[in-house]
Amino acid sequence: MSISQLSRKNIQSLTPYQSARRLGGSGDVWLNANEYATSPDFDLTEGTFNRYPEPQPQAVIEGYAHYAGVSPKNVLVSRGGDESIELIIRAFCEPNDAILYCPPTYGMYAVSTDTCGIKTKTVPLTADFQLDLAEIKNNLEGVKVVFVCSPNNPTGNLIKRSDLLELLQITKDKVIVVVDEAYIEFCPEATFANELSNYPHLAIIRTLSKAFALAGLRCGFTLANAELIGVLQKVIAPYPLPVPVSDIATQALSPQGIQQMQERVAEVITLRADLQKNLENLPLVEKVFDSEANYLLFKCQDGQKVFKALWEQGIILRDQHKALGLQNCIRITIGTKEENQRVIEAISKL
Ligand SMILES: *Cc1c(COP(=O)(O)O)cnc(C)c1O
Repeated sequence: MSISQLSRKNIQSLTPYQSARRLGGSGDVWLNANEYATSPDFDLTEGTFNRYPEPQPQAVIEGYAHYAGVSPKNVLVSRGGDESIELIIRAFCEPNDAILYCPPTYGMYAVSTDTCGIKTKTVPLTADFQLDLAEIKNNLEGVKVVFVCSPNNPTGNLIKRSDLLELLQITKDKVIVVVDEAYIEFCPEATFANELSNYPHLAIIRTLSKAFALAGLRCGFTLANAELIGVLQKVIAPYPLPVPVSDIATQALSPQGIQQMQERVAEVITLRADLQKNLENLPLVEKVFDSEANYLLFKCQDGQKVFKALWEQGIILRDQHKALGLQNCIRITIGTKEENQRVIEAISKL
């Protein structure tokens, strides 16, 4: 018997998440992972490496709680928002439970669920990328966790607040509702953090990877009521955060760090408007979807041809051709002014 055959059945049939890095490519314009275009500059201030770190570093928890407008007891810090997704599934789902998500959306909900050997149910978003509440209601049997991404990756739109509130009503006392706010810094007024006191079954995912420009740090957060946070505390690794990570996260969450993040957001939003306008003017581009995040989804007559032609020129975007309902669509992260211009020139020459 091969070693692979010794692994769990659901792992044997698993395809790993096709992350931007795993898909490879070579070039000098990387607009496929919704990162910020340049790195902020930090120095380590903490030099004690012989001791284990604090399990939930107080400075990080207090810094994030203050930034998010919640109490420290409502915050869990983890290795990126991705770990938060997995913790919620591991903590709440029995082998016979299911999770529900609404494609096209972030791929990790399905990957983490498959890894745990738990069933997935999908209720596609409507044509305008909103929740199909009637279908969700019809499919809640056996569902323990519902994932909703807002702003949604890869479509860029917000999910209607009234729909999310209705979802929270119909799931009360039965189902955990996860609102993935990885991109909320680009539309902060849309957050559900202020709803936590009304909904004990609400969990919000946050990250330093996007607007905070720290994808390489691997630092994310769950916001929820203390009881739900307590459940996740039982399954998280004993020392999830390396000392250098909490050191830099603390600096990023200082008043100065937050201000720099907000300046970055303002800049990205300006560049997004320019890029959207310029894409809309290209004959090969059929449609550019409005976005509340740091990326744009656009549709071409032949999306794969455009994607491949740019890939060969070292301009790496994210092909969405295989995502549900997104044939011929490409997602582009907002880059620097120069990077965005390179993309426009490259497409206009095709
Ligand atoms: C990027 C992202 C995350 C989390 O990313 P981490 O780097 O693991 O913090 C979560 N959800 C969505 C929708 C994302 O795009």
